This record gives sequence, C-alpha cells and structure tokens, in this order.
Amino acid sequence: MDLPKNNSSNFQYILENYKEICYNVENARAKYAKSGENVQIMAVTKTVEPEKINFAISQGVTLLGENRVQEFISKKDSYDKSAQVHFIGHLQTNKVKYIIQDVSMIQSVDSVKLAEQIDRSAFSHKKIMDVLVEVNVGEEATKSGVSYDKCSELIHEISQLENIRVKGLMAIPPVGCDEGVFEKMHELYLKIGEMNIKGVSMQTLSMGMSGDYELAIKHGSNLVRIGTKLFGARKYFGG
Ligand SMILES: *Cc1c(COP(=O)(O)O)cnc(C)c1O
Repeated sequence: MDLPKNNSSNFQYILENYKEICYNVENARAKYAKSGENVQIMAVTKTVEPEKINFAISQGVTLLGENRVQEFISKKDSYDKSAQVHFIGHLQTNKVKYIIQDVSMIQSVDSVKLAEQIDRSAFSHKKIMDVLVEVNVGEEATKSGVSYDKCSELIHEISQLENIRVKGLMAIPPVGCDEGVFEKMHELYLKIGEMNIKGVSMQTLSMGMSGDYELAIKHGSNLVRIGTKLFGARKYFGG
C-alpha cells in the first residue's frame, strides 16, 4: 500500500524520537541541573525537509538551529513562524546581512571582525543581536571557535559593541573526548560570568549533540542541539 507523500503519519518516528529526547533531557536535568534551571532542546535542521521541521514544531519543538546561510534562505519561508531560529554554523562576514532579520541568536561568533559586522548589520536593521561566543574547546585545527585562552579577551572586546549582546558560550566537544573537556567548558562559562563584564551575561551554555547531550547537561549545558537523534541520519554531509 502506498501512503500519500508528506502525510504526517510518515513522520511519527520524529514524534517518537522527540519524546525520547525530552524524557532523557528531563532525567538529566533533574539529576544534574541547578534546581529550577530549564534545558532547551534545539532541533538542528540541516538537510531536513521543511515538512519534517514543521511537523516537529507541531509536536512541541520551539527552537531551530541553522548551519548554512544558503540552505536557510531557501527553506525559511516554508517554516512555521512559531519557532525561533538560531544560527549555529560557521558564518562569513559577508553573509551576515542575509540572516540578521530572521534569527534571534547567532551562536557561532568567534572573532572581533565577525562581531563588528553583526553589530553594523544589527544597527542598520534597528535590532540588538544576541550572540554566543563559540569556543574551540578541543583545540581542533579543523574547527571554528575562539581558543579557550582567548575567550574572555574576545568577550571583553565584543562587549564594547552597542548592537550586540553576549548571552553565553557555545562549544562542540570533540567526539569521544574526555569528560574533562565538558567540565573545562563549564568552568569557563562560570568564570566569565563571575567577571561581571558590562552588558555580558552568561545565561546560555550551548553544548551537547545527539551523541553526548546527557553528558553535556551533566556539565552545565542548558541548550542541547539535536539533529540525527530527532530527524534520523542525514543523507549528505557537511557542517
Ligand atoms: C549538525 C550539528 C548539530 C547536531 O548534530 P547531531 O549529531 O546530528 O545531533 C549540532 N550542532 C552543530 C553546530 C551542528 O553543526
């Protein structure tokens, strides 16, 4: 029997996955998070068809994560507007203008140059842009992110910009890395919070993906970014 295409019953697996993720997140939160602290679940949408994304939103997903400017531009008009969107991929300065209006946070700020471009672009769109600073906590040559040691210096510089607000940190700990790497990130997040830098607040630690979100919550993450575990394996690769 052929089921009609795009019938939402084809997407039931997404609902099952989402329920399981919510359950696991809630357990990890109850066990490890500060009392009352919420853990946000982001649905990472790269390579996923808008129909599936909208189904996930209809089942309770409220936050989407976008990696690629081009892909986002081609898909965004079909998204249910009730979910917020964060940009989480590597961002070139000349592409900032294409996303600034449509995202509520940019999680991948790792240089003054990029921050200055976001500041200018936010100014011309009369908005204050929330950002996270991405930290290359595994010191991997192939990954973006500011180095651990330069992070607080970068945040001091960004804090001078008027149309941008640092709200926390984002990291992608290397696959299979030692648990200490997660804790190192958590310590940095707390340390920068204690610096009381004007206009900077450490309220979001975005860490943890399909393979390590519970471990990340154990080490202070309050925003987990889930792709594969929610939508299934991606058909093609890329960041
Ligand atoms: C793809 C991606 C994710 C989600 O990865 P999964 O392992 O599929 O959950 C999270 N964060 C970033 C920055 C990504 O690029």
